[in-house]
Amino acid sequence: MTPTRRDFIKFVVAGSIAAGCPIDLSLLASPPDAEPQVDGEHYEICHKLRDGQIFAHPAISKRYDVVIVGGGISGLTAAYLLRTTDFLLLEKEEHWGGNAYREEFQGQGFATGSAYDFAGSDSAKLAEEIGLKQLPVNSPDPTIVNGKWVGDTWRSGLDELPYPQSVRDAFKKFRAQMLKLIAAGNLEQFDNDPLTKYLQDYPPELTQWWDTYGPSNWGAKAKDTSVYVALIDFAEIAGEKADDSRVTLPGGNGAITQKLTEVLLAKLGERMLAGATIVAVEPQKDSVNVTYARGGQLETVAAKAVIMATPKMIASRIVSGLSDDQIDAMQSIRYAPYPVINLIFDKPIYRRAYDTWCPGNSFTDFIVADWTVRNQPGYKPKYNILTFYTPLDEKDRKKLLTIEGCQKIAANVLQDFKKLLPEFNVDPIEIHMYRRGHPMFMATPGNYTKTIPAARKPLDRVYFANADSEGPESLAMGGVLAARKGADWVTKRLAGSSAVRAASAVGLNV
Ligand SMILES: Cc1cc2nc3c(=O)[nH]c(=O)nc-3n(C[C@H](O)[C@H](O)[C@H](O)COP(=O)(O)OP(=O)(O)OC[C@H]3O[C@@H](n4cnc5c(N)ncnc54)[C@H](O)[C@@H]3O)c2cc1C
Repeated sequence: MTPTRRDFIKFVVAGSIAAGCPIDLSLLASPPDAEPQVDGEHYEICHKLRDGQIFAHPAISKRYDVVIVGGGISGLTAAYLLRTTDFLLLEKEEHWGGNAYREEFQGQGFATGSAYDFAGSDSAKLAEEIGLKQLPVNSPDPTIVNGKWVGDTWRSGLDELPYPQSVRDAFKKFRAQMLKLIAAGNLEQFDNDPLTKYLQDYPPELTQWWDTYGPSNWGAKAKDTSVYVALIDFAEIAGEKADDSRVTLPGGNGAITQKLTEVLLAKLGERMLAGATIVAVEPQKDSVNVTYARGGQLETVAAKAVIMATPKMIASRIVSGLSDDQIDAMQSIRYAPYPVINLIFDKPIYRRAYDTWCPGNSFTDFIVADWTVRNQPGYKPKYNILTFYTPLDEKDRKKLLTIEGCQKIAANVLQDFKKLLPEFNVDPIEIHMYRRGHPMFMATPGNYTKTIPAARKPLDRVYFANADSEGPESLAMGGVLAARKGADWVTKRLAGSSAVRAASAVGLNV
């Protein structure tokens, strides 16, 4: 068989399917040949935990005022805010950033996950404080469907959608219904309702649109989506006034974590340990013991306070002393498996809009990596890098375990993209995939108003940060806000106030 050019496209896979350990035993129980063949896993310790190995915790080697677990945007922010405190920051991966992680191809940055931020948000303010100038997106979202590109989908685009007139009318009616609910206010009352309740009288094209938009933004299709989160987002994308508050840089929110990491490493590098997987957090009478595995060795340190900036599914398995109710709440938060694929072209392919929606394909949407810098004086990009969002159903998480499974997902993305419009029928020079097994908590009905408040309650000397302490959807700004609250709480805790007094002092509903 003659090899086609496609056979020679370089395919690079990075990232972890395990968000931490001990996790998802069903994944670890898969046969050895189904185990990951790619970089970025730290399974040895997880296997030992799976096999019921009891770790003899070593004696305490060091003491800190605060230990921060997890080096995503939340943990990094907590470390930055507590930079004058005696802290230790621990991260299981070899790099910092978690879901907000930037990579580069020949000097051009692209996002491997988290893409845009919002002007004026806690994360945008932090970015500015550390010297980063995020730029406005200023581009309403188009949709490509049935071979047609439709600009500003939910405003001017409603008359152009390539559907029968009855379906276009249904889109308009649905928009009017949603905007009426939004105008009436008190949106939290809709948090318990699944979005399907409001879609049932509409044609399937509407559900298909939400089954594209929802998984990309909050990990859930319409049947698993809280109406509250849908309404909040809809106000932005479909409100009468097109008011795009999104800001970003090449690399997305990974540009923020990269800068935070640089700022911290410059002076406080000895307080940051990458490649350190935390296996136990055990509250004692006057301190908390934190045990981690690094380079095959276990180490235990003690802290006066701990910030858990890992997802709750991890925290619930690592922190001892939690009530059954809190464990239940933490473990009932669901997380979507979510690989992201970057196609790198050596010629211009697409620069018509920042974020383009593509219902009915193996990916939900794609963004132009250098959108906000494309018109800057002197900017001459050599490559056109497009970032494709490919959230999966929870049942398909195992597809990420093998290189073949990853390749299949990437091949489908490329094939579907090439078929969208005639000018897309071009091969990229490289395909990069960043796979993550549990990165995005799903905005399911009741998650925001019931589950999150129960899951994030501080436990004496342990504070629970991470974006999944905030909501309603998983956002970098939520991670930063949770870190800010955590840093305030720790500061007060170290000053001697009780957990409850400290929490109420920073306005937390605990
Ligand atoms: C594909 C994708 C696209 C997104 N797009 C956007 C967007 O456009 N805008 C936006 O605002 N948000 C977006 N988000 C959401 C946003 O990225 C997250 O809300 C945010 O990055 C979460 O940060 P965090 O620090 O709270 O958690 P994480 O990023 O999950 O960080 C937790 C860290 O803890 C580490 N960890 C886990 N277990 C252990 C352990 N046992 N020991 C030590 N370390 C451990 C992990 O490795 C990780 O680095 C997106 C998310 C995804 C996945």
